[in-house]
Amino acid sequence: MRTPTGRGSGRALIFIQMQRIITGYEKDDEQHWRAILDCGHRQHVRHDPPLASREWVLTKAGRDSRLGFALNCKRCDETLDPDTSTE
Ligand SMILES: [Zn+2]
Repeated sequence: MRTPTGRGSGRALIFIQMQRIITGYEKDDEQHWRAILDCGHRQHVRHDPPLASREWVLTKAGRDSRLGFALNCKRCDETLDPDTSTE
């Protein structure tokens, strides 16, 4: 069995993002859809081309099809911000 050495081994780029599961949806005051995540946070899932192309959010079938998908929760990311080192 050859073991690959050098290129492509060793360093993994670890970029931690909090992936949360979409458990439901709600609309905000401006009628923009927000995904309800399993961490309890809400995250906008706008269809706002060309910045954000999320046509699926426009239909119930589309939204339903995304239930259970993971979404990167920015709120959780902020909570986890490793800015707590005290030295
Ligand atoms: Zn969260």
